[in-house]
Amino acid sequence: MTTQMSDDSLPGLLDLARRDYKDLAGQGLKLDLTRGKPAPEQLDLSEGLLDLPSGHTAADGTDVRNYGGLRGLPELRAIFADVLQVPADQLLAGGNSSLEMMHDCLVHALLSVMPGAESRWADQERIVFLCPVPGYDRHFALCERFGIEMVAVPMDGSGPDMDVVERLVAEDAAVKGIWCVPKYSNPSGVSYSDETVARLARMETAAPDFRIFWDNAYAAHHLTDEPVEIADLLALCAESGHPDRAFVFGSTSKITFAGAGVGFFGSSAANVDWLTANNSKRSIGPDKVNQLRHLEFLRDAEGVRAHMDRQRALLAPKFAAVQRILSEELGGTGLATWTDPDGGYFVTLEVVEGCAKEVVRRAAEAGIVLTPAGATHPYGDDPRDATIRIAPSFPGLAELERAMHGLTVCVRLVGYEKAAG
Ligand code: PLP
Repeated sequence: MTTQMSDDSLPGLLDLARRDYKDLAGQGLKLDLTRGKPAPEQLDLSEGLLDLPSGHTAADGTDVRNYGGLRGLPELRAIFADVLQVPADQLLAGGNSSLEMMHDCLVHALLSVMPGAESRWADQERIVFLCPVPGYDRHFALCERFGIEMVAVPMDGSGPDMDVVERLVAEDAAVKGIWCVPKYSNPSGVSYSDETVARLARMETAAPDFRIFWDNAYAAHHLTDEPVEIADLLALCAESGHPDRAFVFGSTSKITFAGAGVGFFGSSAANVDWLTANNSKRSIGPDKVNQLRHLEFLRDAEGVRAHMDRQRALLAPKFAAVQRILSEELGGTGLATWTDPDGGYFVTLEVVEGCAKEVVRRAAEAGIVLTPAGATHPYGDDPRDATIRIAPSFPGLAELERAMHGLTVCVRLVGYEKAAG
């Protein structure tokens, strides 16, 4: 991105930005654009869950109040088989979080030999994960937690740069995994093209136990009339002779309750058996009462779609407001570009190189909290210092609009200050 301004206009523009910022700072705002979580009205859509389940018996006669059923309720898995593109018998329904399943998969890969692996990851000198950027900070935090080295890979409009990915996985057997948020990615909103998914499935990797951590957190989270359909990674991996390559994750966190939903893991039968065996040491079974409650509430895949249409009705106006304000305030300034996602929970704002941290700092001083600059990159280090993640879901519309206006003032102030030298 380049800054395209005529020098003559700069002093005036900088002056105006300084006045606007002074005004902003004087308003005593207390606004927050960091929280990628559902707003209370979105949670209200699932209030019916609190009166369920109506009974305590699953279709096969299982008493959900008791121990057991490590793989989760088959009827609920059947619904999410469709959403997550995993055959129901290869899908586990677990606790309230898919992130904890990602955590567990890493721990078990470190401590036990995975299908296709020659040894435990903990016994290897180096473990490296590829991290398409911008990406999800909690993925990066998991790698840091377990001493897994991260290598950033740039994203474009169709997913990670596959030339880079193919080269890195082929040349170094320490590269054991890649993080992917394949649909409506956090934070850019990008969905992977069919070609990208096919290349991920068929690429040759030096590591025999390479895994794609396919975090399909936004599988059902459309913002338009034309839901994106991504290619079926699990099927493509099997067709390409790499049946154990994909670990698919998803959850109802942003479908029903973010703190009390159901997480899912899907993969090859061998991987599912491997995780189930490990899980059996960790737990005597998941919360099947919550699973039955979700089954009764959502009913089927069509029920999930209808529910997500109601979510969309609440979210779409907020995303539209973000686009409108960014266009009105920053369009044509050359100070920023931004994504216009068709789904998911985030918008990525790219400011002039070297300015993101300062924009976030100035916004905080004016009472607007943003996700720390750099959080979208491994080790919190965005080498261009340009990427800012915007989370429009949680604030009310009026509050969001105020925060977005304020943010654009900070982008103008910092951008023009930089241009002025
Ligand atoms: N994966 C991604 C990409 C997310 O953005 C989030 C939440 O923001 C999660 C996972 C968390 O999922 P869960 O609530 O199922 O642990």
